[in-house]
Amino acid sequence: MSASIAQQVQSLRRFYNTAATRDLDWRRQQLRQLLRMTENHEKEIYHALHQDLGKSEQESWLAEVGYLQDEIRHSLKHLKKWSQARTSSTPLIAQPGRSWIQPEPLGTVLIIGAWNYPFQLLLAPLVAAIAAGNCALVKPSELSPNTSALIATLLPQYLDQQAFAVVEGAVEETTEVLKQHFDHILYTGGEAVGKIVMRAASEHLTPVTLELGGKSPCIVASDCDLEVTAARIVWSKWMNAGQTCVAPDYVLVEKAFADQLSQAIQNKLEQFYGSDPKHSPDYCKIINKRHLARLQSYLQEQTLLCGGEVEETLHYMSPTLVKDPDLNSPLMEEEIFGPILPIISLENISEAPEFINQRAKPLALYLFTQSKTLEQNVLENTSAGSVCVNDGMMFMANPELPFGGVGNSGMGRYHGQWGFDTFSHLKAVMKRSTWFDINWRYPPFNAKKLKW
Ligand code: NAD
Repeated sequence: MSASIAQQVQSLRRFYNTAATRDLDWRRQQLRQLLRMTENHEKEIYHALHQDLGKSEQESWLAEVGYLQDEIRHSLKHLKKWSQARTSSTPLIAQPGRSWIQPEPLGTVLIIGAWNYPFQLLLAPLVAAIAAGNCALVKPSELSPNTSALIATLLPQYLDQQAFAVVEGAVEETTEVLKQHFDHILYTGGEAVGKIVMRAASEHLTPVTLELGGKSPCIVASDCDLEVTAARIVWSKWMNAGQTCVAPDYVLVEKAFADQLSQAIQNKLEQFYGSDPKHSPDYCKIINKRHLARLQSYLQEQTLLCGGEVEETLHYMSPTLVKDPDLNSPLMEEEIFGPILPIISLENISEAPEFINQRAKPLALYLFTQSKTLEQNVLENTSAGSVCVNDGMMFMANPELPFGGVGNSGMGRYHGQWGFDTFSHLKAVMKRSTWFDINWRYPPFNAKKLKW
């Protein structure tokens, strides 16, 4: 097995060295082929996502297939501009001369995907890698085996097999993959494996982009539009049954407003998923029994406002609201990554930044308010990968915005041009003229020269 992974990477490297991937038309062709793959096999993709996570077709389109297609179209539209030399100014000291930044591909890169959005989290980084002119090895998550198998079957049928390869598998295979020399690694997943990836990358001095997670707070002020706020929180939190890296992990709300907000959230839950979400075609399942047991354990000794129902055979946990959890419990110390939303009341909403700053820097931060003062206070006094004011994860829909974490929630960024740049070396170039050459910088030095 190990020989074959090593051979696969060597063969990608050999192809990269032919310079075929530098051709923009070749890149466009690969991107169009990827788009065609998503169009021709849309139903199979939906089926695999339904098998792995119980996703509805609509949700799969919104957060996986349609999302990826948008990313591909955006890259096709802007590829020429992104790959052109970017002119920069040249100081007097280097005149006459010109300076520019020339993006160039990095080489052969590795992309490791996670199981929660197993299609787009693996392939959106691949779009960026292709656009930037790299060869790539992709490793889907073994926890979503149906999507993993489908990608392994389809990708070689559509993309140039000399430039792109899929390796399926779990720890053993990934460990072997990580022994190889890549020119960049983009990893999406949890913090513990992120450290393993970074350690392995250091052996080859390979730069890494780590798309990790964390506890994303959601601050709700009493001056918010309650109806819209509740709808947007429920949409962001319970999509994919809360198994979303940017899902609101917990809510911070003023004590006097907490009951009203909790009730509004419960009303929306019923409106979206019915009185028994188990039977809703729009409510997803938990990826496996291990994660279900982990989530169930979070509910011990907590006060539930609703939910808490578990059905092991269906991998089901109902949407659950927890009132004022113990802040030292695992529910508040670990990333929840499931359908449980703790509602934490504060005496005053202005305490929210301090609450957040006592914890690791989150991947996303949400704020619902009409107050510009509170908005400014939160933006200036907290740190997060991304912030969305008056909505949940809608910021993901804008490919002009960089997506990535800060501190423990990750390093590096992608989406749109940010992804192109992640998989490019931004080469600095200066070109001097030779018709004019004063000798002030050349030895032998004297007092007159130094005063120039
Ligand atoms: P996971 O279990 O699917 O693991 C991610 C990848 O790491 C998989 O491909 C897996 O095969 C590999 N892996 C697992 N153990 C390994 C090991 N010992 N050595 C080498 N490779 C190994 O995903 P997960 O970690 O359960 O994902 C959940 C986490 O990912 C959450 O923290 C979530 O917030 C985060 N996440 C982040 C983003 C983002 O874009 N920032 C997106 C989705 C998920």
